Order: sequence, then structure tokens, then C-alpha cells
Amino acid sequence: MSEEIERVKCLIIGSGPAGYTAAIYAARANMFPVLYQGMQPGGQLTTTNDVENFPGYPKGVTGPEMMVELQEQAERFGGDVRTGWISKVDFTGPIHKVWVEDKKEIHCDTVIISTGAAAKYLGLESEQKYLEMGGGVSACAVCDGFFYRNQETVIVGAGDSACEEAHYLSNICSKVTMLVRKDEFRASKIMAERVKKTENIEILFNTNTVEVLGDGQGVTGAKVKNSVTGEEQVVPCTGFFVAIGHTPNTEIFKGWVDLDKIGYVIGVPGSSKTNVPGVFVSGDASDKDYRQAVTAAGTGCMAALDAERYLAAKH
Ligand code: NDP
Repeated sequence: MSEEIERVKCLIIGSGPAGYTAAIYAARANMFPVLYQGMQPGGQLTTTNDVENFPGYPKGVTGPEMMVELQEQAERFGGDVRTGWISKVDFTGPIHKVWVEDKKEIHCDTVIISTGAAAKYLGLESEQKYLEMGGGVSACAVCDGFFYRNQETVIVGAGDSACEEAHYLSNICSKVTMLVRKDEFRASKIMAERVKKTENIEILFNTNTVEVLGDGQGVTGAKVKNSVTGEEQVVPCTGFFVAIGHTPNTEIFKGWVDLDKIGYVIGVPGSSKTNVPGVFVSGDASDKDYRQAVTAAGTGCMAALDAERYLAAKH
């Protein structure tokens, strides 16, 4: 038997900078937001070491510390932050229904989707080892590139993200080696051309990573193999970047809100609205271009303001 159905004005799904910022704004607007943290409380930033590019932290802050502070800030104004994840939604009617772990049912006037996205990795044991210890593996050049200034880095991938990030790294690092698994880029021509023309970017086509090499503390290189010749070589590097795509965490919204072919929520440009009245989106769940903590926080604010205006217009 399911428990009594709870009614909330504003339900926020996800606990990265987008969700917490939405909670801060919604709480201060007397919307009594309830935020479910999801499977990875704090979101992607909890797997980042130092965040040096979030305005207001001149000395930097660790990702987990920043998430604790954002949670405290949301709770200070009455935001109800809960553990647990939303397993199912039903956006058929004017009241939006969600279920917590298939049990508890909540009826919501507004829902803010802040479920984020997850970077894809190669899945190599050595890659995961250095990723977990914060020792030189990253999926975000803009976040972590600065730690490798004047050093050699490797980036895996051949899409627009990989090209953009390779170019970003080339302005910071002494050399960038790009590992492309096929004999061509997937990226748009203009992005690929820019990479090809950059002097300190070397592109290795038909090349796969065999192992991320390290000294137990940090990355020292990448063992790679040419899939045509079978030849192996070691590319020295201290930073190993992976840019092979992201998966937005939007599976539960499939069929309820409009998603693009990758799964990103399609928002109404210039706002946080989705195609469903009363359902808003913020952060990486709808952003494949910027993916920054500060942009996620900005769209979290937009979602709370849009939700507030939606409620005001109804009453
Ligand atoms: P994409 O899915 O476009 O590209 C992923 C790339 O990673 C492909 O080149 C793919 O190789 C490669 N890849 C996947 N798995 C592996 C693996 N196991 N080993 C090695 N390589 C692998 O992802 P992006 O993140 O680049 O882009 C996502 C979307 O966002 C795209 O629509 C893109 O256009 C857009 N975007 C636009 C930007 C802009 O316009 N400024 C900036 C960034 C993204 P293969 O080609 O062999 O399949």
C-alpha cells in the first residue's frame, strides 16, 4: 500500500549547483521547495577536486565542500533537502505526479528538473584509478586544464567537445595529443580544421588507449595502439582528458517532456520552460554546450523564477 500522498508547491529533482540554486531562490520566494538529491548527492562536482572558476571563491574550493555549502544555503531559507531519488513521473495533468523510489507519491504544482548529466569514460581500470584519486584523469578541460599549464596532455575523442577542449588546452599546455579512434573526425568541419591548424596539437588517428600510465600518484603517460598497424607507443602526459560525450540523466522523463536525440531536455530558448506547463529545467540536463557549475547555477535561478511566475499567474 502506498503512503499518504504529499502535496508540494515546488519539487526539485537533483542536487548539483542547478538544483541547490533553484532551491535557494524557491525557498526565498516562499515556495517551500522539496529537493531530492538523487543517486549522486552533489552531482558531478563531487568527483572534482578543486573548483577554481566559480566566482566568489578567490582561493578555490573543493567540489564536495562547495556542494555542502550550497546545501546549507538552501536549508537556511527552509529548503527541504532529502535523500532519495525520483524513479517515475507522470506529467499528464495540471498536477504533476512523481514517485520516490517507486513508493512515495508526491503531487507537485511545479517541478524543476536538475538531474544533470554524466560524462562518459573509456572504462579502463587504470583510467578509473587515476580519476578516483584525482590524479590526472578528467572529463572537463575547462574545469581542470589549468592544473596542467605548460605540461603535456592527451585528449580522447573526435567530436565537437573534444575539438573545443583540445583547442582550449592548447592555449594552456605545452603540447596536446588528440587520440581519434577512427581515421576521421566526427566534429563539424570548422572545429576539426581549427584543431588541425593548431601547432601544438598532434592528432593520432586510428588510435585507441590501451592503458593510462602513472606512478601511483598521478598520470605520466598513455599507452596507445594504432588499430591499422597494430603498433603501440607511449605518449607522455600529466593530464589525460576524456571527451567522448555525456549522457544526460533524463531517462525518467522520456515520453513526458521533449528530449533531443541524445536525451537532453529541449527547453524554450531564453527561459527554463519545457513543453510541459509547470515543468522547468536547469543545468546540464538541458545543456550540452557550456556544462559549467556557474551556468548550471544561473539556470537554476531562472527555473525558480519561472516556477514562481507560473504559480503567480495561476492564482
Ligand atoms: P559526440 O557524441 O558528438 O562525439 C563523441 C566522440 O567521442 C566521437 O568522435 C566518438 O568517436 C568518440 N568516442 C566515443 N566513444 C569512444 C571511445 N570509447 N573511445 C574513443 N573515442 C570514443 O559528443 P560531443 O560531446 O563531442 O558532442 C555532443 C553534442 O554536443 C554534439 O551534437 C555536438 O555537436 C554538440 N556540441 C557542440 C559544441 C559547439 O557547437 N560549440 C561544443 C560541444 C558539443 P567516433 O566518431 O569514432 O564515433
